Amino acid sequence: MDLTGCPATIVGGGIGGMAAALALARAGALVTVHEAAPALTEVGAGLQVSANGQAALRALGLADAPAGAVVSTGTVMRGHRGRAMTRLPPPAAGATWYVHRADLLSMLTEGAQAAGARIVTGSRLAPGEAGGDLVVAADGSRSAHRVLIDGPAEARFAGQVAWRALVPAGGTPAPEASLTMGPGAHVVSYPLRGGRLMNLVAVEERRDWTEEGWRLPGDPAEFRRRFSAFGGPLGDLIARVEEVNLWALHLRPVAERWQDGRTALLGDAAHPTLPFAAQGACLALEDAAILGRALALATDIPDALRRYEAARRTRAARVVRLAGGNAWRFHVRWPLTWGRAVVLRLGGGLLARGMDAVYDHDPATVAL
Ligand SMILES: Cc1cc2nc3c(=O)[nH]c(=O)nc-3n(C[C@H](O)[C@H](O)[C@H](O)COP(=O)(O)OP(=O)(O)OC[C@H]3O[C@@H](n4cnc5c(N)ncnc54)[C@H](O)[C@@H]3O)c2cc1C
Repeated sequence: MDLTGCPATIVGGGIGGMAAALALARAGALVTVHEAAPALTEVGAGLQVSANGQAALRALGLADAPAGAVVSTGTVMRGHRGRAMTRLPPPAAGATWYVHRADLLSMLTEGAQAAGARIVTGSRLAPGEAGGDLVVAADGSRSAHRVLIDGPAEARFAGQVAWRALVPAGGTPAPEASLTMGPGAHVVSYPLRGGRLMNLVAVEERRDWTEEGWRLPGDPAEFRRRFSAFGGPLGDLIARVEEVNLWALHLRPVAERWQDGRTALLGDAAHPTLPFAAQGACLALEDAAILGRALALATDIPDALRRYEAARRTRAARVVRLAGGNAWRFHVRWPLTWGRAVVLRLGGGLLARGMDAVYDHDPATVAL
């Protein structure tokens, strides 16, 4: 269908909302993005954009990597004292990029604005307030709009807390990720912004948590104490952390219903995920690329939203399930650690199992 002049409202200016704004504005819609935060600032830290996320960006007309992206040469799996156990080469589908969330968001925002989208910050829309013929609710994992479309979704604490920190690299880090596994905890680290910074995501099991949120301020001294068992170069990075945020991991099911004929859920609003497959942002980019294609092919908006939902729900649910499964593999305790060490030395295939189908997905070729 021709979207020229069609008024469209996007609720939420995160990665998903801005990608949707770009897709719709490129198709000629009159797009307004409402973002609750007072400004689009440097929030967040590192993101891994794997081959499927890169394919989604290409489908949205963005062929180049965001500024400062580091192209990965692979992942090294280590024991918590720093010893490398195995090295995984880049996936067959292509090398992952390590990017700062703010750099990816800037690239999407500039693209959306160049295509004509208007962005209003400091504007929190309640469900039912969004105007226009088409509404995209990209208001994150605690989406208020999801309730209208799919009913209430209970959040359950996943028993894990992620500490996130950025540390000056202090040298020239190898363009690779380390996945360092200890009993009841693991740390993912990789370089960002041309190698000037190191991104740390440190996940530990906790029973005592209630607060939901992904940017709670953390105490660096407590972080260092809790991860003091981690040694080697990672131990040095942990010792240098001066600012840290906490994210209490919560589980919510993937929405059963993604749209109501006028409003579509997109990104974490539709499919909140644990971070263990590093796919939340990539899935949001895929959603936006598919929504753009569905609108171009369909006869009207309800038809487009039906095609979008049908193409995305099974795919997102599969990736979310895989991410949930990785949690226990990273945290096994003795004596199972022995079995894991053997598997890792034999090639780490078990830990990477299933991921090829995640990476080898191009929204430009999905049947709609
Ligand atoms: C520790 C951690 C590591 C991660 N690592 C990766 C990774 O390596 N790779 C990857 O692909 N993904 C990763 N992710 C996931 C990724 O960050 C998210 O899945 C993705 O950013 C979701 O984007 P979104 O736009 O759907 O939601 P959000 O980023 O949550 O954006 C929602 C926006 O909507 C706004 N908003 C909410 N309600 C309203 C309202 N009523 N009106 C107006 N605005 C509203 C919010 O202010 C917010 O800006 C990670 C996440 C975390 C926490």
